[in-house]
Amino acid sequence: MASDLTPQSVLRQWLLTTLGELGGSASTGHALRQMEQRYGSHLTPGDREGTERDNEPKWHNRTRFERKKMEREGLLIPARESRGVWKLTEAGSDEYRRSRGPGTTPAQSATRPRSVESPMLPAQPDGTQSPTRVEVTTQRIVRSTAVAEYVKRLHDSTCQICGTRLVTPTGAYAEAAHIQPLGRPHEGPDVPSNVLCLCPNHHVLFDLGMLHISDDLAVIDQHSGTPLGRLTERPGHQIERCYLAYHRTHHLRSDKQDR
Ligand SMILES: [Zn+2]
Repeated sequence: MASDLTPQSVLRQWLLTTLGELGGSASTGHALRQMEQRYGSHLTPGDREGTERDNEPKWHNRTRFERKKMEREGLLIPARESRGVWKLTEAGSDEYRRSRGPGTTPAQSATRPRSVESPMLPAQPDGTQSPTRVEVTTQRIVRSTAVAEYVKRLHDSTCQICGTRLVTPTGAYAEAAHIQPLGRPHEGPDVPSNVLCLCPNHHVLFDLGMLHISDDLAVIDQHSGTPLGRLTERPGHQIERCYLAYHRTHHLRSDKQDR
């Protein structure tokens, strides 16, 4: 079945990477063995099936086919010139370097851990030892720490959605989440009735509109509409329904714009 085979484009990437990391060339047998070693765990049963003609695994033939295609595209030295050695041309080496991301040479990438070899994973960025620092001027809304602290203390730093209470060496950690955001264009008020005590995960999900809260305080998954539970309430902390309504309509609107 065709769907059971690794796509040609993936075989091409594996071949390019393998040759690149072997310094640009390898004998046919060595190249195929190296590919097997690196990507064998990704090969499908269909890839490993033998062909009717010579019982060689299908992925060998399909890789040879890809090699010929790359030769025609100028990425590999023509077979008749290279005497059984698969060798990248200058253009092939460039292609390999491009596929590994900026600033990478074959020598460097050969030392990388095996886990980044998978074509399904993104290339690991090089990062920097000394990040550039720039001076910026920002305008920041001054939030009342008192409001945030009050709500968190009332809930004993326990997430109102999932009940998680993160304990750290400096005390329990929770976040104060504004229901109607403070910034423009929302201009929500910084008052306890507009603030929830949430764990960091639920804070993010709530701010991104992945969750909304109904007037009867049911926590609803925005996309499926499934109720996930009920917001925990504590005496002394009344949630104003108009802020919940604002959060719902705001995210319903932006949800529609995305589509
Ligand atoms: Zn939570």
